[in-house]
Amino acid sequence: MDTFSTKYDYLIVGSGLFGATFAYQAHKAGKRCLVIDKRPHLGGNVYCEEMEGIHVHKYGAHIFHTSNKEVWKFVNSIVEFNRYTNCPVANYQGKLYNLPFNMNTFYQMWGVTTPDAALAKIEEQKAEALNSLHGREPQNLEEQALTLVGKDIYEKLIKGYTEKQWGRSCTELPAFIIRRLPVRLIFDNNYFNDKYQGIPIGGYNKLIEGLLKGVECKTGVDFFHSEFRDWRKYADKLVYTGPIDEFYDYRFGKLDWRTVSFETEVIDTPNYQGNAVVNYTEREIPFTRVIEHKHFEMFGQEVYDCPKTIISKEFSTEYKPGMEPYYPVNDERNNRLAEQYRGLAIQEKDVIFGGRLAEYKYYDMAPVIEQVLAHFNTKI
Ligand SMILES: Cc1cc2nc3c(=O)[nH]c(=O)nc-3n(C[C@H](O)[C@H](O)[C@H](O)COP(=O)(O)OP(=O)(O)OC[C@H]3O[C@@H](n4cnc5c(N)ncnc54)[C@H](O)[C@@H]3O)c2cc1C
Repeated sequence: MDTFSTKYDYLIVGSGLFGATFAYQAHKAGKRCLVIDKRPHLGGNVYCEEMEGIHVHKYGAHIFHTSNKEVWKFVNSIVEFNRYTNCPVANYQGKLYNLPFNMNTFYQMWGVTTPDAALAKIEEQKAEALNSLHGREPQNLEEQALTLVGKDIYEKLIKGYTEKQWGRSCTELPAFIIRRLPVRLIFDNNYFNDKYQGIPIGGYNKLIEGLLKGVECKTGVDFFHSEFRDWRKYADKLVYTGPIDEFYDYRFGKLDWRTVSFETEVIDTPNYQGNAVVNYTEREIPFTRVIEHKHFEMFGQEVYDCPKTIISKEFSTEYKPGMEPYYPVNDERNNRLAEQYRGLAIQEKDVIFGGRLAEYKYYDMAPVIEQVLAHFNTKI
């Protein structure tokens, strides 16, 4: 067993984007850091496993997107990003529709070729839904979605997918889950509205390697079951990016999570579905999406130069202890519990809590980096 006699400025628990960016900034400022992670690899949820020459997003497909120029410049200063643009496709009963809802979708749905004709169709179906409510507010997600986009889009592209995601019927889900359903009256399949998006050239591991260059790291070390639990012996400050309830030994109770499970297969063809992301929107098909990983980083002929492909089917799964905690559950109980834990956290003088697990908050990658940059007040 290694002995760590040196004293660090920071012991950083978790090598995901929060921990790794923090370590990068602290190291740059001349601070001594030790990063530990309980997983056998660095990078947290953005880690990719190489299979058949393809970077497989092991913890779910990750697409970097931001409108923050400083964040974009920062990540590109670590590793250059490619031109990947997320344009998911929906498969409903074997028929394909472009997402997000735009003129391509409306053409595929109704054969309409002009924005006016598409709008007229949507308005007609919205009016039908509103009439059937007889002046009352939508009571559930189904009624809400019908009043926002009408029955064709709801039934083919929203209903089954949402029911699989939540494991409940749309009539049992609260209306507030869907506040807005933007429709684009232009031919534009770009999923994100952000100014910048892409994937690190060479994969996310390159980004993590770049952030952690020169920083001492140890994998396979669980903070709570290691000598580092007594962290003041090793460092002046602790940066903690694990689950906040675990830090306080679940004293108020356990926080709930939602999770996703993956079935990954190697397929003996260079191009399986022609797109990185295909959503399966009918309820009868048990998975929600099929990710074909090579399309995040291989374009044109490169797709065919790599003879095999890797796909992952995604299943929305009810969380049980021991599974990966992915998404916080924002219901009353969990919000209250998280607030109680946050109340303890703000009293800690030498512990910095950061990232999605410690804050019990869903964050995209860019906001996580933005937070760390703000912490160090960086301008590059
Ligand atoms: C399925 C899925 C898809 C996503 N897709 C996107 C996307 O397309 N675009 C986007 O911008 N964002 C996406 N995100 C969000 C993105 O994953 C997060 O913003 C990012 O991972 C946050 O980094 P983090 O450091 O907070 O957490 P993590 O990456 O989870 O890192 C936390 C680390 O702490 C370690 N740890 C926890 N407890 C301990 C302990 N006791 N001891 C030692 N180590 C510990 C964990 O092993 C982990 O490595 C997605 C998230 C999920 C769940």
